[in-house]
Amino acid sequence: MSATDVPVSSLISEKIPFDSTHVLVGGVWRPAHSGQHLELINPSDGSLLASIARGQAADIDAAVRAAQAALDDPQDGSWGRLSAAERGRLLLRMSELVLAHADELARLEALDVGKPLRQGRADAVALARYLEFYGGAADKVHGQSIPFANGYTAFSLREPHGVTAHIVPWNYPMQIIGRSVGAALAMGNACVLKPAEEACLTALAFAYIAQQAGLPAGALNVVPGLGEEVGAALSMHPGVRHISFTGSVQVGTLIQTAAARNAIPVTLELGGKSPQIVFADADLDAALPFLVNAGIQNAGQTCSAASRILVERPVFDEVVARMAERYRALRVGPALQDPDVGPVISSRQRQIIQGYLDLIKESGLHVAAQAELPDTLPGQGCYVAPTLVADVAANHRIAQEEIFGPVQAVIPFDGEAEALRIANGTAYGLVAGVWTRDGSRALRVARKLQCGQVFINNYGAGGGIELPFGGVKHSGHGREKGFEALYGFSVLKTLAIKHD
Ligand code: NAD
Repeated sequence: MSATDVPVSSLISEKIPFDSTHVLVGGVWRPAHSGQHLELINPSDGSLLASIARGQAADIDAAVRAAQAALDDPQDGSWGRLSAAERGRLLLRMSELVLAHADELARLEALDVGKPLRQGRADAVALARYLEFYGGAADKVHGQSIPFANGYTAFSLREPHGVTAHIVPWNYPMQIIGRSVGAALAMGNACVLKPAEEACLTALAFAYIAQQAGLPAGALNVVPGLGEEVGAALSMHPGVRHISFTGSVQVGTLIQTAAARNAIPVTLELGGKSPQIVFADADLDAALPFLVNAGIQNAGQTCSAASRILVERPVFDEVVARMAERYRALRVGPALQDPDVGPVISSRQRQIIQGYLDLIKESGLHVAAQAELPDTLPGQGCYVAPTLVADVAANHRIAQEEIFGPVQAVIPFDGEAEALRIANGTAYGLVAGVWTRDGSRALRVARKLQCGQVFINNYGAGGGIELPFGGVKHSGHGREKGFEALYGFSVLKTLAIKHD
């Protein structure tokens, strides 16, 4: 069977009948200019899932022009002519429709990403909530009046950039689209979305849903394809006025270089090696579920995964033993069976993680627990046994590099100063957690952690759509999520009027 024979609509998404083999440009679903396709593989069993369009520079050019036309179109009802309140109402309609289709979206994500159904549903609900949040905020972003010289009235306005580019990875497509495309549309930008080549069905399904909700043609264009083809063409296109990139540090630096050539702003949401710090006085019963879940959720393929657990020595053995117990109870399986841990995205990703598991063995590190891989798992599935490694030296590669798999390193420390030294001692700075009953210490440590978000006596705050998110150091710069994102997706213009 050739890849082009497998459009997704008939197979897995009767209720959201988009055509996976097409790009969406200017409100029209059509094949890519190249006429070529890429294959999507179901990581749960290695089967061919669907074909997607292999977009190229010509498709990006058409998408950027369509986005620009949607902004410039002088007709009533076109995207650029809508008031902020009208944009907000549209986003709310999109939110309702996403919620109504949450189960189908979760199923698509399970098949495409290997995400357990519950997690896929949570992502769909988060997408709906982003659209609700940004829909509600669309007409509440104000400029300021500025006290200036006599005879003048001066004030500032928030205006859209124009055409914004959104390059997203495969691990949380719905959430990342919600936080970047949602905020950009709320501010009146027209978007060109480039989903990841490994998983793009929910991006296409979302675009279809947005159309059904009445989003005008050209406000959202979607061009799947390879990063080095479509992603590169989009990041370099002179018509793009802002880039939101979520992905690896390596590609992030290419994106920043491309943005620099066109002198445009860029938001980089990159990787992490985030710590949770457990002090000896912590409420361990409360901490335990967060310590493990933040490492194995989405099979560890989470930018803010707590891949390092720093534990104060007096409770080190107890924490390792209790985490190990949870690891041994983890159920690994195909995503549609809604296990605790599904497959990783691809056999390539599995090989990368296997390289780290080999390194753990070669280094003689102490594997405190490894979840079992049942014999019944499909042979071609991309499964990795969740692995807990204890007593890891803070400078070991396992404790320094982003593994992007279900592997956590537990590192002992003595006292606050050492905890901070270890926590801040990587190239990354995305998220951190602090567990202690001492409020002063929690705040003291939080202020000294080099990262974009700190959670005290929790980790992740359940997604925290309202909470600005982003990194420092190699984890990137700029903020998405929360109200803050609306500033990033707009340009401040100052007006000074001389009247006397
Ligand atoms: P990746 O950088 O390989 O790919 C991300 C996106 O960039 C994909 O759409 C890809 O097609 C595109 N791309 C690839 N090469 C390109 C190029 N030359 N020009 C333009 N675009 C290109 O990353 P990945 O492997 O898909 O995702 C994993 C990484 O993403 C991890 O490092 C993870 O931590 C990070 N991530 C960060 C966040 C965050 O919010 N900070 C969220 C999710 C993932």
